[in-house]
Amino acid sequence: MARVLIVGAGGVGGVVAHKCAQVPEVFDGICLASRTKARCDAIAAQLPRPIETAQVNADNVPETVALLRRFRPDLLINVALPYQDLHLMDACLEAGVDYLDTANYDPPDVAKFEYRWQWAYQERFRAAGRMALLGSGFDPGVTSVFCAYILKHYLDRVETIDIIDCNAGSHGQPFATNFNPEINIREVTARGRYYEDGGWRETDPLSVRRRFRMPEGLGSLNVYLMYHEELESLARHLPGLKRARFWMSFSDNYLKHLEVLGNVGMTRIDPVIYQGHPVVPLQFLKALLPDPASLGPLTKGKTCIGCQVRGRKDGRTRVYYVYNICDHEECYREVRSQAISYTTGVPAMIGAKLMLTGQWRGCGVFNMEQLDPDPFMDALNRHGLPWKLTEGAVFR
Ligand code: NDP
Repeated sequence: MARVLIVGAGGVGGVVAHKCAQVPEVFDGICLASRTKARCDAIAAQLPRPIETAQVNADNVPETVALLRRFRPDLLINVALPYQDLHLMDACLEAGVDYLDTANYDPPDVAKFEYRWQWAYQERFRAAGRMALLGSGFDPGVTSVFCAYILKHYLDRVETIDIIDCNAGSHGQPFATNFNPEINIREVTARGRYYEDGGWRETDPLSVRRRFRMPEGLGSLNVYLMYHEELESLARHLPGLKRARFWMSFSDNYLKHLEVLGNVGMTRIDPVIYQGHPVVPLQFLKALLPDPASLGPLTKGKTCIGCQVRGRKDGRTRVYYVYNICDHEECYREVRSQAISYTTGVPAMIGAKLMLTGQWRGCGVFNMEQLDPDPFMDALNRHGLPWKLTEGAVFR
């Protein structure tokens, strides 16, 4: 029996609260805290059992430490924004609490997703006897576990990885993002980057396109090469890896809007002075766009996220594809959320469960692929994200 503090009451925070509440044998006490307490209370009112709620500014370390000392959780689940990661890790060290997140630190003034800031906490977590689990969402998260699982059971060595994230769903809005618009647009407008032969190669944003035929008759979509944070940790933790790439699907409509917004300067992340006040155009745009949590009842169709992993086994080349298909409307029926928040929130709950039950333990800072994939893969099947594995190439 354990106590958990969930920080962040957006689309993902709502799913984590629902999924933890469904597993009372592990999550005995739950507190949901965020900058706006009313959002926590609205989520709490949907749950099958009572939880605590609290107001906290996660950028204020003493405030978070005070909440940790009052609620006394065993683990803090950070599903606020990547800007809060380091402050929440500091608070966990000070209060002696384990830490988990779903997205790596991103400094507010430069769009730069890198693990180095969080990996720098390794010695402090180890010395404190505490565990920090980084990136326990879907991508990063499940994708990293998929790669570790294929390596453990099917290959002697992984040579190439292609992570392919497709959303074949639609919310019917002219333009909206499926998770926090500011983080989403910073990620999508960044230069493309992939790992090859021991180094990183860059491409112009969204300049490399392929067609991908999804399994189970879901149809074909255009996918675009992007940088994604799990590439960095996989390149570090999988010895012998020759190439790792990440692909995401976007509709022509989404790309057209993004292009126009970029052309007129609305995706800029530096402040501009408007009527004497500094305004960050992307933050203003976020205020205009639909809240991702509001897309839940509107979104139909399915997501399909998977990894194609090629490598060597007993001297022969083998290729495997492991994937999950998730239905937006089924997610909404279960937890009042669309599949993007669902596919992030379920793995966050599973990572927390494995830490709290001692199946994933260690002192220091860990990425998902460093831990035993088997209990996580089992839990995906049991908690709403079943997966399938096929042999043979599906993508070139
Ligand atoms: P939302 O914008 O919907 O929610 C973010 C929540 O964090 C809001 O409730 C917000 O509060 C709260 N928050 C923001 N700043 C603070 C702060 N300083 N102190 C306390 N609370 C704060 O985002 P999502 O739910 O869509 O995404 C949550 C996280 O999940 C993000 O880090 C995102 O990058 C990550 N993610 C990871 C994925 C993966 O597969 N690994 C996929 C999708 C998302 P308020 O309402 O007051 O603004």
